[in-house]
Amino acid sequence: MALEFYPVKVSHIKRLTDAAVAISFDIPEELKQVFAYLPGQYITIRLNINGQTVNRAYSLCSSPHSDNSLTIGVKQTEHGLVSTYINKHLQVGATVELMPPNGNFKVDINSNAITSYVLIAGGSGITPLLSITKSVLQQQYDAKILLIYGNRDTSSIMFFKDLELLKDTYSDRFTLIDILEYTDGDNKGILSLELLSTLLTDSFLSSCHYYLCGPQQVMNNAEAVLHAQNIESSYIHREYFTAPISQSNEQVSSIEPTDFTIHVKLYGKEYDIEVESQDSILEAGIKNNIDPPYACQIAACCTCRAKLRSGKVHMESREALTDDEIEEGYILTCQAHPLTSDVFVDYDG
Ligand SMILES: Cc1cc2nc3c(=O)[nH]c(=O)nc-3n(C[C@H](O)[C@H](O)[C@H](O)COP(=O)(O)OP(=O)(O)OC[C@H]3O[C@@H](n4cnc5c(N)ncnc54)[C@H](O)[C@@H]3O)c2cc1C
Repeated sequence: MALEFYPVKVSHIKRLTDAAVAISFDIPEELKQVFAYLPGQYITIRLNINGQTVNRAYSLCSSPHSDNSLTIGVKQTEHGLVSTYINKHLQVGATVELMPPNGNFKVDINSNAITSYVLIAGGSGITPLLSITKSVLQQQYDAKILLIYGNRDTSSIMFFKDLELLKDTYSDRFTLIDILEYTDGDNKGILSLELLSTLLTDSFLSSCHYYLCGPQQVMNNAEAVLHAQNIESSYIHREYFTAPISQSNEQVSSIEPTDFTIHVKLYGKEYDIEVESQDSILEAGIKNNIDPPYACQIAACCTCRAKLRSGKVHMESREALTDDEIEEGYILTCQAHPLTSDVFVDYDG
């Protein structure tokens, strides 16, 4: 079955910085299994703001191993509808709709194969990396972590105290390098190609996995430095909060747009829906009121993932899918346009 939304209460709100809050949810006992997650994964939240229903993805910053509640950290973006609402208006006791955790940006804490991690975060990109840091340090007793975290200044560091505490508690296995754009201290700068090249040369880094989450430029810089050091792509894991730069419309514009009627299976029901040439399969589902699951609509999350049972589609971007998922026939419906008349999309698959 496709993932569904469940009503969940906000149990705690903590201000992290002037522009960021941590929101915790108490998951009822009967839903604990449904909301189980791996460090690094995200949840999808559905809110009704001024009569408009909106879905957004937020990474879990809590650890499934040590935290009872599920917690997200939300940074207010300029003119951002949901992040502003969450920062300014959401209250303890409010009921929101949450879709269970999802996503391919995750660590398998039970694997002994990985013994060192380099995490590179910028701004709110710390959220999944905090979950990973806590979980790895608590569960993988031999594993080492280097976290490079870029921010404007000290006051804009989300989870400042939590990170300091982890640094003190696990001083032999956890190295934190804060890079601040505006500071008089030593670590002044931005996560540029030059700075990352300097920071990523330590011998500690051999045979480790790299997790990147932050602004586009930071992720691009980090990836370029890692590729220059011949780090295999399979060791580099990325989580985008905004549209990946690799996203390209070139291919879709070279394809003659056509209207198609496709077959869709969702929550056990089957539908024939019209997909107009300019729409993605997801947009067509929304227009046809079948309530398909989705969050980011930019290929950064995989909430709208479905299995293509027959026919052909074109995807503008596939960032959030793994190679295995592509191989198995999964598509991101927010990016997919039908190319043949026999398209059958199975969200429950
Ligand atoms: C997998 C995933 C995990 C995410 N996890 C987190 C998280 O842990 N914490 C968090 O704060 N956000 C996270 N995000 C981003 C989040 O989903 C929203 O996109 C963000 O809160 C903005 O939503 P909004 O409704 O406030 O802004 P919108 O009303 O959608 O957009 C308003 C304006 O802000 C710009 N904008 C949108 N998102 C961002 C952004 N992230 N940074 C800068 N500008 C932006 C848009 O271009 C637009 O101009 C995640 C996104 C994804 C895909």
